[in-house]
Amino acid sequence: MSDQSDPGLFDKIVNLSKRRGFVFPSAEIYGGFRSTYDYGPLGALMLRNVKDAWFRSMVQLRDDVVAIDAAILSPPAIWEASGHLENFNDPMVDCRNCNERFREDQLEDPDTCPNCGAKGSFTEARQFNLMFKTYSGPVESDAAVTYLRPETAQGMFVNFMNVLTTTRRRPPFGIAQVGKSFRNEITPQNFIFRTREFEQMELEYFVPPDEGAQWLEYWCTARLNWYVELGIPREKLRLRAHDADELSHYSAGTFDVEFLYPWGWGELEGIANRTDYDLTQHAKHSGERLEYFDQATGERYVPHVIEPSAGATRTMMAFLLAAYDEEEVRGERRTVLRLHPLIAPYQTAVLPLSKNERLVPVSREVFDLVKPNFMTEYDETQSIGRRYRRQDEIGTPTAITVDFDTLEDKSVTIRDRDSMDQVRVPIDSVVDALRRRLGL
Ligand code: ATP
Repeated sequence: MSDQSDPGLFDKIVNLSKRRGFVFPSAEIYGGFRSTYDYGPLGALMLRNVKDAWFRSMVQLRDDVVAIDAAILSPPAIWEASGHLENFNDPMVDCRNCNERFREDQLEDPDTCPNCGAKGSFTEARQFNLMFKTYSGPVESDAAVTYLRPETAQGMFVNFMNVLTTTRRRPPFGIAQVGKSFRNEITPQNFIFRTREFEQMELEYFVPPDEGAQWLEYWCTARLNWYVELGIPREKLRLRAHDADELSHYSAGTFDVEFLYPWGWGELEGIANRTDYDLTQHAKHSGERLEYFDQATGERYVPHVIEPSAGATRTMMAFLLAAYDEEEVRGERRTVLRLHPLIAPYQTAVLPLSKNERLVPVSREVFDLVKPNFMTEYDETQSIGRRYRRQDEIGTPTAITVDFDTLEDKSVTIRDRDSMDQVRVPIDSVVDALRRRLGL
């Protein structure tokens, strides 16, 4: 595994992402649009895998969580009630010397500009609201003001009663959502770590009021383990409790799952005890009752909420950083992304030994057999050695080679990305063999 303190690692990931088609700077042909990124052919697959792996763990493999997909455009009433209009601010300062703008709470030295080095050059901090504001419809009036959601969470709170009545759940139960969020960040930075448009994977887990602390602990452990199971080394992860002065306005306790980025420890996911804050606020502002009524006991209460909130795009970056490796094998250097099979863009690739016309029909046959089961790349360009290197570099955990022996013995070779071992397998059992190797 690569050394995470390797200062070059970050640039290597940014370059590889561009070169191989994971992530492109947005609007590049127009000179780029600062801190906005497009996910290329490999990135689109990988990001989808990150979200699917989260969904599988948080919804599919549980019986106490349901999903929703709520609107991104939302009326001010939601953000008034949630407290975002008043509180979702970052303190912004400008350097009078170089005119660069910073988040005051992120400055290492509050007296020195990290851009030009000037001392005492900052303006007074101003509170800057991070929500993107727009207008619905053709008239740009106050009545038409609309916000792009800065988190997916409020969609779960405003639909609490809809979900409760349509699914007949009782606490503890959760509502999960994956989708885009938007924050007008003062200083977007570090590639896809902090962008103005990003994807979140959030769970709002509703519990009886006296069970908040125990579920917070449960979710901290569960979420940390999720990253480890998908291949991030345990020593590159830690849980950090927020200090009292760091807590959000709604929180009675927050832990961050932190990852060791090339620039140091930083947030990967936040897990907060939001108490009954959101449901109570929305009940007050909407005039609706947002509570759980237990028919068996006659008990009525406002559940407390534990929220594990992860960034899909930020998580994808952590997976790329943790998976990157360079090694020397048999006198040759190779770059390899040791991505978990659930996360890798392709699970396998069909590689005919050459473009020879005798090999093509059987290679296509193998591709047709494999592709309904696994995301599979078919590649017959360049030499076989270069194609193995490419698959290593994009993280494909297995590759299937079709050679001239295949025509005789109806078998193919499966090559393992990490060990580079090769085994011969009959074509008609190749899907089973891959399934065993990939653990899928
Ligand atoms: P920070 O303090 O870094 O601004 P935050 O504490 O405001 O982050 P949360 O509101 O807890 O972040 O958001 C939950 C998760 O959403 C974060 O852990 C992160 O993975 C992701 N996230 C938040 N903001 C961004 C962003 N601007 N770009 C990419 N991912 C983000």
